[in-house]
Amino acid sequence: MKIAFAFLVLLTIGVLTVPARAAVEKDVIKTSAGPLEITFLGHSSLMMTFRGQTIYFDPYGRMADYTQLPKADLIFITHDHNDHFDLEALQRIQKKETVVVIPPICSGAVPEGWVMRNGESLTVAGIAVEALPAYNLVHTRDNGEAFHPKGIGNGYVLTFGDKRIYVAGDTENIAEMKALKKIDCAFLPMSVPSTMSPEMVADAAKAFRPKMLYPYHYVDTDPTKLTVLLKNTPGIEVRIRQLQ
Ligand code: ZN
Ligand code: ZN
Repeated sequence: MKIAFAFLVLLTIGVLTVPARAAVEKDVIKTSAGPLEITFLGHSSLMMTFRGQTIYFDPYGRMADYTQLPKADLIFITHDHNDHFDLEALQRIQKKETVVVIPPICSGAVPEGWVMRNGESLTVAGIAVEALPAYNLVHTRDNGEAFHPKGIGNGYVLTFGDKRIYVAGDTENIAEMKALKKIDCAFLPMSVPSTMSPEMVADAAKAFRPKMLYPYHYVDTDPTKLTVLLKNTPGIEVRIRQLQ
């Protein structure tokens, strides 16, 4: 009985100390200006480090404990949905000097933010940034409204040395995405109905041919479907990372 009780205690401690998510994965991309390290926090939440700067995309408290992560030099918010724009998570990594890049819809809640509209560009901390549109073409809510109406959200293309990284936000395979050139690494959302099906991601990828393609925001969509769809398309490496 005593042994059984001790075992039960150990089991309970074991269960309690298991982290919510398995250890986060990281990739390193070589650029002409030094390595770019990408940490996959989950969903659309990414952390990048480049030349000593810490850069976040869409910090989301359900994906990571932001009190345990480094403070941000730069934060990019794609749009106002709560899985992308989580003020509490944002404030945990924000310091006085942090530049928060936001679309206009987030400016009320982040008055100190740097507003970027679709099509605008700027350079921050030596990194060139372009804001792309992000919107639905076909997927709508029951009331007929697009989940992501045109003109609200941003995707971002960032230039790190000789590499161009595209973080698409919540969007479908829009013409502006398909017209992109020289993208080394793309993060494309893959979840139905609010963003793209694997077929739509494959269609976009075949048009603008990113060298590395990370499906993200895939919720309960099986990301390996994309690997199958693109297996006969040379020049695009599909990289699946744990983002659920
Ligand atoms: Zn959204
Ligand atoms: Zn979303």
